[in-house]
Amino acid sequence: MTRHSLVAAALVVLSTVTPTLHTLDAQTVGEPLPAWTSGTLDIHQIHTGRGNAALLVFPDGTSMLVDAGDGNPEPPRGATRAPDASRSAGEWIARYALRMLPSVPVPAIDYAFSTHFHGDHLGGFNNDAKTSAYGDYTLSGVTDVAEYIPIRTMLDRGWPDYSYPRPLDNPMMNNYRAFLEAQSAGGGMTIERLTPGRSDQIVLKREPESFPSFTVRNLAANGQVWTGTSTTTRRHFPALEDTPEQDWPTENQCSMAIRVSYGRFDYYTGGDMPGVPAPGYPLWHGIEIPVARAAGPVDAAVLNHHGLGDGNTEAFVEALRARVWIIPSRAAGHPDRWVHNRLYSERLYPGPRDVFSLTLQQATKQVVGAPLERLSSHRGHILIRVDEGGARYRVLILDDTSEANTVTAVHGPYDSR
Ligand SMILES: [Zn+2]
Repeated sequence: MTRHSLVAAALVVLSTVTPTLHTLDAQTVGEPLPAWTSGTLDIHQIHTGRGNAALLVFPDGTSMLVDAGDGNPEPPRGATRAPDASRSAGEWIARYALRMLPSVPVPAIDYAFSTHFHGDHLGGFNNDAKTSAYGDYTLSGVTDVAEYIPIRTMLDRGWPDYSYPRPLDNPMMNNYRAFLEAQSAGGGMTIERLTPGRSDQIVLKREPESFPSFTVRNLAANGQVWTGTSTTTRRHFPALEDTPEQDWPTENQCSMAIRVSYGRFDYYTGGDMPGVPAPGYPLWHGIEIPVARAAGPVDAAVLNHHGLGDGNTEAFVEALRARVWIIPSRAAGHPDRWVHNRLYSERLYPGPRDVFSLTLQQATKQVVGAPLERLSSHRGHILIRVDEGGARYRVLILDDTSEANTVTAVHGPYDSR
């Protein structure tokens, strides 16, 4: 019996005993995804083939977009665009969000969260891109999403001066800052720098009193890492004045990370943080391990740096010990062969785990080989749907070739730990 038919059989038995469970389990393969309902936490990892984008709908309907990338090599090294090349990644992400977000009072993204300033997360600068109707900037990634759906608060690592570790002066950043200036004029958009350690910066905007167990903890930004106690943080990077300029932190190392918690359920996401330095660089260039240790064990985690081998180290995997891993793959080499083997290693932590990838390039299949057959999914949007209260969740795969929201697989339910 396959895993799915086992689950189906179990549900038939359970649904005769507890009729309410059947309603909760109404997500059916081949059917459109049932809409988000109040009390549910939805975490969508959206596949565009152009970079990272995750849409979170919190239990009271507050929404957050984590990255909106548009920057990737073309196939065969890079992924094929999804659903297709007829629209930009940002427009596809906005259309996805408009289908998935609660429409009351009006569809809006309450928080847009930029893990770091690279094109596959923020939207790369492109001379041929369309120009905004709202200001003097072009549309790519997050600036593109905001053309279709309002963003209320923008969170990044640099506001207001964008000067760490050195002034961020390039066409992408200048375009992004023109976007911030235009969108914040007249009080439309609020912009904040993420403060590591806090759990009161990203909050439920609508009914916080109804879901007291929901929190978002800021784990890290710019090398400042939460200690795990109250709101205190520790500086992982040495002071710039004590460091040769060629060793200053890289953009990936400055990535922002958060932990989203709902009852017993915990989720980690942390951009492109590396766990080991590039050859010959100082050991402190590896930053993911203290961040993962501050997060502690989680139910679900997004791999750092698209599953590449400079991150997702053994100590990282062991610290998070996730039941569900998500690979935000977009190019050949995602995931790295060694990372893949670490994820499945029961020497690092015991028990089963399921691994889901947005896409998989032919070159990756050839390099990693047969072990990749263990992946629970290698194509499609990945939705973690957490039941009210956070005790249980499922992973649904959605067809990424159309906008019909068709469920192609259901995994779980999993018990939160
Ligand atoms: Zn990236």
